Amino acid sequence: MSFDAATKMQFLYALRSKGVTDTNVLTAMEKVDRADYVKGTFADRAYEDMPLPIACGQTISQPSVVGLMTQALQVSARDKVLEIGTGSGYQAAILSKLARRVYTVDRYRRLVHAARAVFEANDITNITTFTADGSHGFAEQAPFDRILLTAAAEDPPGPLLAQLRVGGIMVLPVGQSDAVQSLIRVTRLEHGYDYDELRAVRFVPLLEGLGQE
Ligand code: SAH
Repeated sequence: MSFDAATKMQFLYALRSKGVTDTNVLTAMEKVDRADYVKGTFADRAYEDMPLPIACGQTISQPSVVGLMTQALQVSARDKVLEIGTGSGYQAAILSKLARRVYTVDRYRRLVHAARAVFEANDITNITTFTADGSHGFAEQAPFDRILLTAAAEDPPGPLLAQLRVGGIMVLPVGQSDAVQSLIRVTRLEHGYDYDELRAVRFVPLLEGLGQE
């Protein structure tokens, strides 16, 4: 199966029916072939609206959830975005079509290397990848206009709140790892933060330190 016109139409239709209606987001998702980010056994299911297993026991998120999170983040072409949880690199690739620059971090070196190879193969040049515990953010490049977490924290990590620009938006799942979590949007105000609960989601947990692979 390839990301041909008919497959794209079906893929976009499924996204719209789940509430992904932002034209810029849909256009970005049309430009990124999810099969490039799903390897091995599950490659032929890349265009289904399902999370799928990737290396290191992690998952590539469901396309409609990627779309809804991207939409909630309200990315514009001038933005510098930080993503915590590179995983397959799929979400970062979509952000790269909407933002000026994307910094993406994962605690597994192996996932970061694999994602970087796909970005290079697809001539995506505005993503910087690195391996670290992303809950500390990336102070050297702060502040960020947008921050997206694709792993669930119990609370928004303090360093990430601090690295968000005033007027900036952070979207993240919060809650216990084995329960249903809430996707929330945090907006940094001149004084303090505004919190907005979006929907129920399920993500792998945000873990401390580096992974073994
Ligand atoms: N955005 C990914 C899906 C991510 S799955 C995609 O599009 O495919 C969540 C990822 O978060 C996993 O790869 C996991 O290793 C990573 N992760 C968990 N805790 C982390 C932490 N503290 N710092 C960086 N990455 C973390």
